[in-house]
Amino acid sequence: MDQEVMFVSMVCSSQRLPTVLRFRWDGSMFLAVGASKQRPGSVIPPGDGGPVHGGFGTTPDYPGCPYCGADGFVHCGRCKELSCYDDSWEIFTCPRCGNSGRITGTIDSVSGLGTA
Ligand SMILES: [Zn+2]
Ligand SMILES: [Zn+2]
Repeated sequence: MDQEVMFVSMVCSSQRLPTVLRFRWDGSMFLAVGASKQRPGSVIPPGDGGPVHGGFGTTPDYPGCPYCGADGFVHCGRCKELSCYDDSWEIFTCPRCGNSGRITGTIDSVSGLGTA
């Protein structure tokens, strides 16, 4: 069984604090299995690849954003970064670039920032 894991940085939309998302590859898509607070000063090791293409989702076990509990995440179309997002939010505002609007579609690409 393939246990490839990928770490991607995310920013909490509510508190604008850095988070690290952990994804598991299930053979057809990346599923978020957990998220943890990124320690100040820590750096995610750079990945060897460019953008990773495939589906993204969350596992039933995904506990949500460690800061605000949002149960999902969104890939900003402007700055190409991930931020936490909860289904109950009607409007999303990107904590990195200020882009805001309704969420449409699904996440289909993201840059891998490290694999283990
Ligand atoms: Zn959050
Ligand atoms: Zn953005």
